Amino acid sequence: MNIYRDIKNILTDGNMPEGEAKAVALLLLERVAGLPTAKALIADGKSMLCRRQTLLEMAARISQGEPVQYVLGETDFCGLTLKVQPGVLIPRPETEELVNWIVEEVNLDANLNPNLNPNCQLLDIGTGSGCIAIALAKVLKNVEVEAWDVSDVALDVAKDNATKNGVQIKVRKMDVLSTLNPKPSTLNSQPSTLNSQSSTLNHYDLIVSNPPYVCEEEKEEMERNVLEHEPGLALFVPNDDPLLFYRQIGTLGQHILKSGGRLFFEINRRFGKEVVTLLEGMGYQEVELRQDIYGNDRMVKAIKPQ
Ligand code: GLN
Repeated sequence: MNIYRDIKNILTDGNMPEGEAKAVALLLLERVAGLPTAKALIADGKSMLCRRQTLLEMAARISQGEPVQYVLGETDFCGLTLKVQPGVLIPRPETEELVNWIVEEVNLDANLNPNLNPNCQLLDIGTGSGCIAIALAKVLKNVEVEAWDVSDVALDVAKDNATKNGVQIKVRKMDVLSTLNPKPSTLNSQPSTLNSQSSTLNHYDLIVSNPPYVCEEEKEEMERNVLEHEPGLALFVPNDDPLLFYRQIGTLGQHILKSGGRLFFEINRRFGKEVVTLLEGMGYQEVELRQDIYGNDRMVKAIKPQ
């Protein structure tokens, strides 16, 4: 009775490719039974009867299309273990790249100007599991991190993750789309004012966001396990307004970023140039577009003028 083989077979019977099934079987054995690969490969199901049933049930859920991370209830992000559950987006490796870029920039800045900004104010908009906010709070020195989300599930998970990882972040329920009056739109160019409860003028040194950016029309190309299990609220924007959140947060930044403060975004690879043009049109400077490791346009940085 080889438990590794049993798990792998359940997964391949559900049409998972062999290589992926091997990796997932090893991951389950490591996370659920604490077995390193060498032991996992030869573990006899009989000697671990109490976990065998759990492991086989987990394998069955995964083979039905549930994301591995939801089944395990956790995932790794920037070297941290974060709780994830349905209702929060599973952190992606691309987002780690965005965090790395921010860490690089903030540390460079601190080295160049050691006396400036002893307490850097950071805001993460649409925090989800809290991955960006928590990783930044963990790695950067002298920062105060605030995290917004519209979803109560996300706020609870983010709070839990901060505690689990020993960092303090200020978690706040906020719908970023209702922070300005009127809402900036593609149709009118009326100036918006800041909704008084939203935030404080010129308060933040840095705003980061990985907002919803997948167009409804892209659903056809998406994996079933994402579409059927991950929250649409965190993923989708209407086809006719793919830059909705970038326009909103860009405008908000004009009010709540300090001068010289920075915006960092994760973006849809289809709209790199459009996001750059939008931010430049709003008066942001040194707007920079970066690719992820797959060579796709994925991240943008912009600076609010002094
Ligand atoms: N990168 C995610 C995906 O491909 C989307 C994240 C987002 O919409 N912010 O599913």
